Amino acid sequence: CGIVGYVGHQQARDVVLAGLRRLEYRGYDSAGIAVVDGGLAVERKAGPLRNLEARLDEVGREKFGGNTGIGHTRWATHGAPTDRNAHPHTDAAGRVAVVHNGIIENFAQLRAELETAGVEMASDTDTETTAHLIARAYLGVDEGGTKGDLPESVRAVSRRLEGAFTLVVTHLDEPDVIVAARRSSPLVVGVGEGETFVASDVAAFIEHTRNAVELGQDQAVVITRDGYQVTDFHGTEITAKTFRVDWDL
Ligand code: GLU
Repeated sequence: CGIVGYVGHQQARDVVLAGLRRLEYRGYDSAGIAVVDGGLAVERKAGPLRNLEARLDEVGREKFGGNTGIGHTRWATHGAPTDRNAHPHTDAAGRVAVVHNGIIENFAQLRAELETAGVEMASDTDTETTAHLIARAYLGVDEGGTKGDLPESVRAVSRRLEGAFTLVVTHLDEPDVIVAARRSSPLVVGVGEGETFVASDVAAFIEHTRNAVELGQDQAVVITRDGYQVTDFHGTEITAKTFRVDWDL
């Protein structure tokens, strides 16, 4: 129900958790975070954010020391509100992490296709299919010329999805970027000084920047600490609408 992504100079863990706090008003049943830092560190917990924070305190700051991270508060639609169904979801090798708001209407078909290919599911969610599909696209396992191209892997998978989604994706091999895509579900970009955000709502980042970019229907964005690039799902560049958030916290 809430999404935050961060690439910048701060510890992603802190920025993402603070952002999720700002999105708590939207309601949720579980929360989770993934940070890229040499490895892909992922923790997810059913219940209030403090459960996730307690778990992160146990794990220690070191494992979550990276500057690129994504976070999620979940409002379960497919699969019970448990730890294993909480986002982020990853591929089996733990190289791709995905958070998702919305519903993938054709997930049963995608899941069957993945299972036929020998992929084992680790959750009951519609979301998990996208993590496997993006990982496979990036590896070049499935058809399509997306090998080694994370933005195109995310766009190619987005083109196959039916339903409403905001997807935010990190990859272990691409520690300096986050790729996000949206259809019928909110996604805004926050443009700071040497740091860039994506979120379902500007509230998640306005303590850091008030310069925002609105994404349109069926658009994807690649963010780095130096900026952003918006395209449609076919990779055609789009000049997105920028705006300034002028309301107070
Ligand atoms: N459909 C997804 C799930 O149930 C995402 C729900 C959400 O928007 O939080 O896990």
